[in-house]
Amino acid sequence: MKQITNWLLPLVMVISLHSVNASGGMSAPNHQKDQINYSITIAESDKHTAKVEMTFVPKDSLLFMTQGAGQLPDRWATFVQDLKVSDASGEEIAVKDMTDALWMLPYTPKEKIIVSYKVRLDHASHKWDGGLDGVAYATDWGVFYTGRAMLIFNGADWGNIRVDFNLPEGWQVSTPWKRVGDGPHSFKPHNQAALMLSMIFAGTHKELSFKEGDFELLFALGGDDVLAEQEVYQNMASGVLNYYIDLMGGPPNPAPDNVIEKALVIINVGDMTDGEIIGSNISIILEKDGDPMAKMISRFIFAHEFFHMWNGKTFTPDDQETQWFNEGFTNFYTLKALRHIGFLDDNAYFGVLNNLFYQRYTADSGLGNLSMTKGEEKHDHWGLIYGGGLFVAMAQDISIRKATGNTKSVDHLMRQFYKRYGGTNDQYVIDDVEESLSVLNGADQSDFFKDYIWGTQPLPIEDYLSVTGLDAKVEEGQLKIAIKDQLSPFQQDVIQGILGSNTP
Ligand SMILES: [Zn+2]
Repeated sequence: MKQITNWLLPLVMVISLHSVNASGGMSAPNHQKDQINYSITIAESDKHTAKVEMTFVPKDSLLFMTQGAGQLPDRWATFVQDLKVSDASGEEIAVKDMTDALWMLPYTPKEKIIVSYKVRLDHASHKWDGGLDGVAYATDWGVFYTGRAMLIFNGADWGNIRVDFNLPEGWQVSTPWKRVGDGPHSFKPHNQAALMLSMIFAGTHKELSFKEGDFELLFALGGDDVLAEQEVYQNMASGVLNYYIDLMGGPPNPAPDNVIEKALVIINVGDMTDGEIIGSNISIILEKDGDPMAKMISRFIFAHEFFHMWNGKTFTPDDQETQWFNEGFTNFYTLKALRHIGFLDDNAYFGVLNNLFYQRYTADSGLGNLSMTKGEEKHDHWGLIYGGGLFVAMAQDISIRKATGNTKSVDHLMRQFYKRYGGTNDQYVIDDVEESLSVLNGADQSDFFKDYIWGTQPLPIEDYLSVTGLDAKVEEGQLKIAIKDQLSPFQQDVIQGILGSNTP
């Protein structure tokens, strides 16, 4: 089970200082044994209830919902009503409710059974640590569910999964699964994990699709504030997608068991700006009538989380020691992407660097006594790990550009890792990062690692920035950066490279 990330809180804190049935039908018995169908009905008359029907030959006698909602005694089953199990002839099978979102059948049926239940969309009346953006909620234009909040499971390794939706007239549904052609709202998730880690939005929202080979980036947009900026989202999605693919050399390419066919980004207007990623799905809530900073934060969340489809899912760390690389390099490319597509100009870029990152880095209580390799501390030491990691990326980028006449940069590390680990189960460790950086620098980087990564010395980012033709200094605790008037073409290229463009 992939970890669910909610890293936005510190960012928000900074901002507050200044958002059918069984189609298996006549197929062979063997085929049926490995087939599970979910039919999900939302009726016009009661849009806040989802009726789910599962048809399958059980693999064992246990029905369960996946992890989460631990604050409720009955977890996700708090919202499940009228659970019934019947055999193919319609005879009811008594099922024992074990609480904790577990149910036990009296035996393991050898024939097809039907499990039916309702999910009441009432999650907003409970408290959720990560916010409703990772749970389920209703809007005036439709309903948001996560797979974990809606679906009951049995066994594992289903070879053939199908999900059909029956929806009110005029509704559509956005999911991270491949469509199958024979139903208007029919899908074929490629495995059970793709169900467990899914997000679903059904309603009258707007869908935007961006394809690159077999990979699809799908945006689901809802609410007046968001729809009014549809063109902005369109430009952002295609711009960031192209930028990342050009940088890496291809679309996300995780391990074989974890294929990403589609990345779903659901953006709705809501009460506060927040974001959450589950699997390859990103849920963003944008505060209604939010200020420009709330909008910028929502874009930042998208670009950051989307980059993790490469840095994090295509190349994956073996342990916690490289969270500064996972989060910090992701922040570096998030800023570069937003600058590249024109969502940040130079001054906004420098402002974000100081306000969001440098301030939190220098204020982090871990700076000076905690190594940024303590990745398990990343939520308590956001400034050190997310911010410090960004400054490591930037310092190394500058150092490599300087050493190679701007022909190499950390872009090459990204490409190398993409090639080496993409589509495999291999994972990298901190020594792999150090070795690649040493090769790119043409010089051993163990002192750099000893001082700033394993060690606890503050990284003098202003010194690194200053060698590029930027005027960078720290005054009264503020990182102040300006572009000098007189720049050589070489300096201009270096600065463009650091701020936005990909190195060929
Ligand atoms: Zn992250």
